[in-house]
Amino acid sequence: MRTTLIIAAGGSGERFRKGLGNSPRSFPSKLFYPVSGQPLLVHTLRAFRKVKSIREIVLSVPRGVESAVKKILKNEVAVSCKIVPGGKTRAESVWKALEKSQPGNSWVMVHDGARPLVSQESIDELLASAKHTDAAILAQKVVPTIKEIGENNWVNRTIDRSRLAEAETPQLVRRNLLMKAYRENPHAMQATDEAALVESIGGRVKLVTHDGWNPKVTTVQDFDLLEAYLTRHQKSETRTGFGRDTHRLTAGRKFYLGGIRISSAKGPLGHSDGDALLHAVCDAILGVIGEGDIGDWFSDKNKKFKGIRSEVMLQKILKRAQEKKWVIKHLDTITVLESPKLGPHKKRIQKRIAKILGLPEDAVSIKAKTAEGLGPEGKGLAITCEAIATMERSTP
Ligand code: MG
Repeated sequence: MRTTLIIAAGGSGERFRKGLGNSPRSFPSKLFYPVSGQPLLVHTLRAFRKVKSIREIVLSVPRGVESAVKKILKNEVAVSCKIVPGGKTRAESVWKALEKSQPGNSWVMVHDGARPLVSQESIDELLASAKHTDAAILAQKVVPTIKEIGENNWVNRTIDRSRLAEAETPQLVRRNLLMKAYRENPHAMQATDEAALVESIGGRVKLVTHDGWNPKVTTVQDFDLLEAYLTRHQKSETRTGFGRDTHRLTAGRKFYLGGIRISSAKGPLGHSDGDALLHAVCDAILGVIGEGDIGDWFSDKNKKFKGIRSEVMLQKILKRAQEKKWVIKHLDTITVLESPKLGPHKKRIQKRIAKILGLPEDAVSIKAKTAEGLGPEGKGLAITCEAIATMERSTP
């Protein structure tokens, strides 16, 4: 069955947008709202990834989001793809997509962009059922008791629910029949699903009922439910890593600490810029991800790293942590230094490190100590820094 998949996502998502209120994050359409780390549209597209009979996908999306949708498609879809701007009604959006579909595909499967949970079994069953008729649609038997509303909200009667089903998507229709319905039904653009169009010209529609969960995500609450459902088996793992570094202080070296420069007659000696605090942070992160120490990554025997900024080193290590799905949540540090006094610089260092790590400032702690004149730090010969990093990752 050569099939065109039409994703109907042309709506403005008004109800969803209202629910977001004054949220600081804005999305061009609800299709881009992230669920379990991926835009909603990605989840919906993935539901069809293994359906072999789909030869092309036509997406009807709100005007203005076409290029953003294109970016998503590049990584998610292997078949040919077209994007059309949505219409005023759902039926109009589907019509615009239908006009752009390949006539050689004799079947059209229409699916709501906001139904990401449709199962492979349901799609297979739909394909098997449609063969012998004009159209097949996914549906659920109605479970609640349904009342017919009379005047002034008086109940007219109770409807026999055993004869009722709620239409969902996908809906699979013979292409020429759907085209015909659009041409012959004067109210076609008001139809709320494809089955209604086929029915209106006397076509036969088969219901494929299921008892799974195939919700249409409409409100912000729906998204919260979906998020909870998709992440229900995820476990979060927390680890703590420790780092420590000492550098000798000598005259004439620039003094870098925590990514900022401090004016001082002496500075830390080193193969890199000598930023002992960032080095301790690097080692703390390496401790969490189990990838050795900073010397393994940036050997002081390697000329390539001569004079390297420690921020560059930290970025590289952070990238590796990110690849392993580790996210830093908190950093605590101590710097032991006799002079210069760090009090006036602590706030700037905190800001800088928070920015590098992508953390709120109050998740980065900068503490400074002197050594009371004792030992190499106390005598002004060295700086020593210690850091503890707390990181988390979610496992599926
Ligand atoms: Mg060092």
